[in-house]
Amino acid sequence: MALGTASIATRLREAVPNDRVITDEATLVPYMFDASFWSLRQRRMPEAVVVPQSTAEVVAAVRVAAETGTPIVARGAGTGQTGGAVAPTGGIVISFARMRAILDIDRANLQAVVEPGLVYLDFQNALAPHGLFFPPDPGSGRACTLGGMAANNASGPHAVRWGTTSAYVLGAEVVLADASVITTGGVHSKALKSSSGIDLTKLFVGSEGTLGIFTKLRLRVQPKPPARAVILAGYAKLEDTVASLDDLFASGILPSTAELLDRSAVDALRLWRPELALPEGEAVLLVEVEGTPDQVAANVRYTDAVIRRRATVTRFAEDEKEISRLWAARGGLAAATALAHPGKHRIFAGEDLAVPLTEIPRTVRRAREIGAELRIAVIFYGHFGDGNVHSAILVDPDDADEVRRADELADRLHRLAIEMGGTVTGEHGTGAVRAPYMRAEHGDALDVMKRIKDVMDPKGILNPGKIWSETSSAAPRS
Ligand SMILES: Cc1cc2nc3c(=O)[nH]c(=O)nc-3n(C[C@H](O)[C@H](O)[C@H](O)COP(=O)(O)OP(=O)(O)OC[C@H]3O[C@@H](n4cnc5c(N)ncnc54)[C@H](O)[C@@H]3O)c2cc1C
Repeated sequence: MALGTASIATRLREAVPNDRVITDEATLVPYMFDASFWSLRQRRMPEAVVVPQSTAEVVAAVRVAAETGTPIVARGAGTGQTGGAVAPTGGIVISFARMRAILDIDRANLQAVVEPGLVYLDFQNALAPHGLFFPPDPGSGRACTLGGMAANNASGPHAVRWGTTSAYVLGAEVVLADASVITTGGVHSKALKSSSGIDLTKLFVGSEGTLGIFTKLRLRVQPKPPARAVILAGYAKLEDTVASLDDLFASGILPSTAELLDRSAVDALRLWRPELALPEGEAVLLVEVEGTPDQVAANVRYTDAVIRRRATVTRFAEDEKEISRLWAARGGLAAATALAHPGKHRIFAGEDLAVPLTEIPRTVRRAREIGAELRIAVIFYGHFGDGNVHSAILVDPDDADEVRRADELADRLHRLAIEMGGTVTGEHGTGAVRAPYMRAEHGDALDVMKRIKDVMDPKGILNPGKIWSETSSAAPRS
């Protein structure tokens, strides 16, 4: 039976130093939210927030949760878009804001050990002097934490070539629901691969804090390619982009990014960054190639020649300043969407479909039609090379009818992704928002996931209401 607020706070203060526990309402407010539109409407305050400084303090907080049957929700930076880091039924939020240390960078063995509250960009900056980098690159990288990335299996534009966070977590220290601590991936291992036993690391990665809480991560890192170049290609038709990508594959080229800007996104960026002179047409691709300077100089020309078979226009950037300018513009798309629709606000809902590459044009066209039918402004872009289609939905949050139509749009986009043979989330995770779609996407496999959850967390204290909540308040209308 869960205790009242005062009792939970008292128990926590007995377990960890007093200054680690937050219970005053004004300071608790930010913990009611992440970046999801869902959390703006949910507005449930946790009873307490714990900000531990060590694994022992995490263990102590989890023990209080376990003994009192209180929900406990891990939180990185709260940039998640699915309500993952908020506590919809109240309880304890455990923030990793004070566990941000880099414990080891071992270039010779291509790995690093970090605490989960470390911000992605701080990690990249620390790796750079060693000539290393961590390939998964979420757009929220200036704020999001490596713990949040591992819990959501986050990724970004470079996933095309380099894969998602899952490929880079070699092992983890995890606090389980009964407050015991395990190390996955081998207690003393520094190996880069392993076929030993069941891969528990993979089980925890992407499980969104529902099976255990990361307190350390052993991460694979890579030598950073010293040079890169970006080709900016304009296409008359969306379908030409898929054909172009297929031409690249047929020529033996796997670019390190292939970012899509639909016409709606190009129009928004033109308002914000007219000096980029983005090409006309229905779509633009940003294709990046990497390597040594000589390799890049040759590869960019070879790749450009292949792309030109379908693109109406191409130009390339080889100078790092120009490349950074292009990526900064792409990174600022979220801000540009608001310029294209004054008075509207971007909401994070239905924003993260991933479909087979060949279905991207059909998905975008159908999504555009649904948006028009529901009279909702939407801007499309995405990590085209791995089928991840982002939709920026824009609404006036004070217009109840428009919000209702936006909810319907998000619901139909999720269903569209499954119809197209894809997934409701390519990188942002399930959280509370996508829980209602898990049955349609996973079928009976969902029951196996639930059985694993029941064994590992029989009291259901770890991040309840996420992934399995088939009765979630985010449930789509029938
Ligand atoms: C503008 C913007 C752009 C974004 N772009 C991308 C993108 O390109 N790619 C992408 O993948 N995502 C993107 N995201 C979503 C989000 O940033 C990522 O999912 C990120 O990995 C979340 O990290 P966080 O530290 O903010 O985690 P939080 O939001 O705090 O938490 C996310 C989940 O991780 C769990 N969690 C956090 N820490 C731990 C821990 N130590 N142990 C166990 N579970 C834990 C939480 O319980 C929650 O379920 C974007 C978000 C925004 C707002």
